Amino acid sequence: MTRISIAIDGPASSGKSTVAKILAKDFNYIYTDTGAMYRAVTYLAITHQIAFSDETKLVELLDHYPISFSQEIDGQHVWVADEDVTTAIRQPDVTRAVSEVSAHKKLREALVAIQRQIAKDGGVVMDGRDIGTSVLPQAEVKIFLVASVTERAQRRYKENLEKGIPTDLATLTEEIQARDHYDSTRKASPLKQAEDAVRIDTTGKSIPQVVQAIKDVVNEKGYRL
Ligand code: C5P
Repeated sequence: MTRISIAIDGPASSGKSTVAKILAKDFNYIYTDTGAMYRAVTYLAITHQIAFSDETKLVELLDHYPISFSQEIDGQHVWVADEDVTTAIRQPDVTRAVSEVSAHKKLREALVAIQRQIAKDGGVVMDGRDIGTSVLPQAEVKIFLVASVTERAQRRYKENLEKGIPTDLATLTEEIQARDHYDSTRKASPLKQAEDAVRIDTTGKSIPQVVQAIKDVVNEKGYRL
């Protein structure tokens, strides 16, 4: 059976990781959260007091603290060397700084090399900002997820409440807008819909509806996974 690559891109909190995880489970594919990798480097920069502008030192961190993923009973965990950073990388201080860190070209090159290695045999659902445009331009299925900023902020607010992360809706809305602006205007592989990506607006849609819409795209392209 063909094992394809499915690229899911889109702005912050558009539902990428939620649907990507479900698709990967249903297809028995590997799920790769590339945002978690940029977040992990940002977390390392904070804990090692490295300036977010210091590209060389940020890249060097990867030599000492390799990033990896593991599958646990409660879902995917993210590691830097032997430290489980799954929760730490979702904290507001990381979220606020990650766009600045991820804008560095050399850091992106280093992480993209790892991402391509993970996807080399196909059978992967990868989510991020530049998967369809830059990481896996040959991906068989490319999806670009969008949703209104109001709905995205509300989703993030609910998620944060469940995780016990203190936030307020107005701040979240501002942060999401600022992050989208930064991510889509940076020089190095900005957030942008690939020409051959299918755009899905998730505003007002349930998770199963979005998952089904993506499966419909897969089927329409003739893949039976
Ligand atoms: O997906 P998530 O919101 O966790 O991503 C965090 C940040 O990582 C994004 O706002 C963006 O700055 C960066 N990112 C990126 N390229 C990717 C994935 C994430 O630049 N492929």
